[in-house]
Amino acid sequence: MYAPPIQRLISELAKLPGIGARTAQRLAFHILRASDEDAGALAASIREVKERVGLCQVCFNLAEGPRCRICEDDRRDGALICVVEEAGDVISVERTHEYRGRYHVLGGALSPIDGVDPDDLKIAELYRRVGDPAQPITEVVLATNPTTTGEATALHIADALRERAPGVIVTRLASGLPVGGDLEYADEVTLGKAFAGRRRL
Ligand SMILES: [Zn+2]
Repeated sequence: MYAPPIQRLISELAKLPGIGARTAQRLAFHILRASDEDAGALAASIREVKERVGLCQVCFNLAEGPRCRICEDDRRDGALICVVEEAGDVISVERTHEYRGRYHVLGGALSPIDGVDPDDLKIAELYRRVGDPAQPITEVVLATNPTTTGEATALHIADALRERAPGVIVTRLASGLPVGGDLEYADEVTLGKAFAGRRRL
């Protein structure tokens, strides 16, 4: 229907989450109408983010270089680890200003139906961190989403930590977060309260 380069752009855009065929088409025409500078800046920013941003070797948050800013920040309390599903959740927790420790990004949540097993997430890496004598850990806050898969992931990790590291306090965010929702969509005040009122698992 369209010239091959336009069709290619539409099918690439349609791969993005939440973008259906019609939206992809609308975006493609928007890009075609845009100035060379604007379209070039979009293309360059996609290339740059892929070239320069990777995962932190310690916590798997997004990082420019081997470690993320939070792992490099000496003022953060290294004895606390907040476990989240995605790197975007780090931003949500940071916005509350309730937390001064470090993070661990799992890269998703356990979901046997979708074939997501512990091996698919950075769970073994978390246990390794908790067991590392170079940085003793006092508390692990499980801040996975208040969804079925997020809860299952929190319980799985809590059980394992009880066995592996009985001296470590394991907490879960207080209720009050919208059930079934993502951390990403919780407002700062609600998430901040849930953080301050976290309870021991
Ligand atoms: Zn990090």
